[in-house]
Amino acid sequence: MTLAAFYHPGYAAPIGPHIMPIRKFGLVAEEVRALPWVALREPTPASEDDLRRVHTQAYVDAIRTGEPRTLAEMQKFPWSPELFPSVCLTSGGCLAAARAALREGASAALVSGFHHACADHGEGFCTFNGLIVTADALRAAGEAERVAVLDCDLHYGNGTAQLAASRPHVFAVSIYGNDYWNNFAFRDVRVRRHEDGVNQRSFALPAGCDRATMLRTLDEALPLIADFRPSLLLYQAGADPYHEDPYSPLALDHDDLRARDRRVFEFARAEQIPIAWVLAGGYTEDVSKVVRVHVNTFHAWREVHAA
Ligand SMILES: [Zn+2]
Repeated sequence: MTLAAFYHPGYAAPIGPHIMPIRKFGLVAEEVRALPWVALREPTPASEDDLRRVHTQAYVDAIRTGEPRTLAEMQKFPWSPELFPSVCLTSGGCLAAARAALREGASAALVSGFHHACADHGEGFCTFNGLIVTADALRAAGEAERVAVLDCDLHYGNGTAQLAASRPHVFAVSIYGNDYWNNFAFRDVRVRRHEDGVNQRSFALPAGCDRATMLRTLDEALPLIADFRPSLLLYQAGADPYHEDPYSPLALDHDDLRARDRRVFEFARAEQIPIAWVLAGGYTEDVSKVVRVHVNTFHAWREVHAA
């Protein structure tokens, strides 16, 4: 069984020295390219129509032109002419993986889902919300009626939650252990409960969260997704819950995160829900540890499907 993984060297816009290790996407691509059961493919960029279903015209224009600069840089990247094509490609990667998953059962995009991006601005290194761009594009094309998002990034998926609130065809679950990007609270963080809506739920993980607590939380969340009966599940397999990550107050190591991924893939297989995953955050100083979390997600998928 071959797994399609979507990668493009143009995903990475030049952002200079930054806590976001943007080169990790290329490093993950190099490792998964060596796996005989993974086929790397290149996506096409998302179109402006795809972006405008989710984001305001003024915001899309700001990212394309760089003006007004404050809006174009609200995600905390320096704007450059390369930014717009790169974020069209990352949204296109998410969409391509979703389409491959609908055809083949599973796929991955070596991009982040950009879950902090809102309709009219970016936040927390997230420019366009590729998850919702994907859900809306599939719906517009009649390819998927309902899309569920399972967000296991360390940070609460505020942009996805806001965008889901007006979209009955989306059901978003965020399992998070650090409240919000902008407070830059690092490990010493008080996690607050976020308000749930009709089509969004959130689960706060306690500081020191171990594997058993993580899996118990997943077992609470996954039945909600099953009840929604989605045509597709988009999974944000974040690497920033990893215990050495500067933002993480959790106690999850490589094996724990691999167990998390396995549980998600077992669920998708049991419920026969096509699943596409993206990489999401990861800021551990030794980037090889971030890459290992992401490559392990591939191995977790393989373990579940070889069983
Ligand atoms: Zn994060």
